[in-house]
Amino acid sequence: MLGNRPATARLAAIVALVFGIVACGAGDQPRSASQPGVAVAQHSSAEPAMSAAARPSPPASPSATPSAPASPSAPPSTPASTKAPADGYNVRPPGTDHGPANSVTRTAGTEVALTFDDGPDPINTPALLQILRENNVKATFCMVGFRVRDRPDLVRQIYADGHTLCNHSWQHLTDLAKRDPAYIDWDLRHTNDMIHAAVGADAPIKYFRAPGGNFTPSLVAKATELGMSSIYWDVDPRDWDHKPDSNHSAHIARVISQIKSQIRQGSIVLSHDNGQPDTIVVYRTLIPWLKQHFTLEGLPTT
Ligand SMILES: [Zn+2]
Repeated sequence: MLGNRPATARLAAIVALVFGIVACGAGDQPRSASQPGVAVAQHSSAEPAMSAAARPSPPASPSATPSAPASPSAPPSTPASTKAPADGYNVRPPGTDHGPANSVTRTAGTEVALTFDDGPDPINTPALLQILRENNVKATFCMVGFRVRDRPDLVRQIYADGHTLCNHSWQHLTDLAKRDPAYIDWDLRHTNDMIHAAVGADAPIKYFRAPGGNFTPSLVAKATELGMSSIYWDVDPRDWDHKPDSNHSAHIARVISQIKSQIRQGSIVLSHDNGQPDTIVVYRTLIPWLKQHFTLEGLPTT
């Protein structure tokens, strides 16, 4: 099925298949397409189906459950922004808006929240964590349950560095809201259980992001029942969307440009650490600029 594609596309497809890459982006619709209620999208043709590795497996046995780190950093409690509005970038317009099913698109204040989805990724997540560490920036990681199962050590690094934990479902079904309620309940609980198995049962998981942002009222209600706020986004640079005729430099430049043009005070910014090495380059370049214009926070957990 790969035979007629250009060499680069074949390589990308092979890499995607090998690593089971699946981005939020399958359902990350433009804001204008968001509708209250159901906003379920289908897989894009560019997105391979979830690999067998994603299929649910029995919960880890207690003997396999790692203990909590000795002294995990407490999730951040970021003070109110002290950045003065300047040069038009960080002026928050009046009024509020929301994502599908009243999911949250903004932080409660002027702080900007960077969110990274679909990981943890064995290569890109450590690289991103290093960049965030060097810049003393906290972010929010919306993690996929089966990848948490596979790399609990990375979840421990994320938590130990003081970033915020977010449930991004067990296996990134973009039609999760259409599944049987019993499955949905299992999916979200099992993902939380796997995160807790990595970082300890006391670690707060206060946020849920539906795959593709495909929230419905019932899905939001389930997340609420489990103590999680449903977060959408205010800025979506579609960092997963590699144009066929775009090289890495052009892609990186486009993503940076879109973030700079869309971001404002209070934005929740959607990006992906899983399978998106260009996104890591984007943030290596962009974080100093972001720090100049905004106060960055991990979404609060208290
Ligand atoms: Zn996602």
